[in-house]
Amino acid sequence: MDCIFCKIIAGEIPGNFDYKGEEIVAFRDIQPVAPVHILIVPRKHITSLLDLKNQDFELIGRMTKIANELAVKVGMSEKGYRLTINCGKEGSQIVQHLHMHLLGGRQLSGRIG
Ligand code: AMP
Repeated sequence: MDCIFCKIIAGEIPGNFDYKGEEIVAFRDIQPVAPVHILIVPRKHITSLLDLKNQDFELIGRMTKIANELAVKVGMSEKGYRLTINCGKEGSQIVQHLHMHLLGGRQLSGRIG
């Protein structure tokens, strides 16, 4: 499958990893929009939020837990951070492999989009 995140997870192209678990990994975004910009990504290829099956929704909870732990680890727990999932074309999803963006390290805009 020609998926850039699957290739990073497989070690075929480099990734700057913050976390490697059995089910979930986290690595730095190659074009960070904030001082901290980490992508939380399931190893399993799921295209988008819309492709989650019933049993997969718990995965979002486990990804959120990793995001929280990373936020604490990088020192954002006091000042706060943002966790975002883009879905589909109008949601500005570019990489077609489900992921969360963990953003912080500066005052983020009050606007969502
Ligand atoms: P999205 O718009 O939610 O699909 O975001 C995809 C993100 O993946 C963007 O912020 C990209 O900068 C990031 N990205 C694309 N290629 C790579 C890569 N090789 N390593 C790390 N991040 C990447």
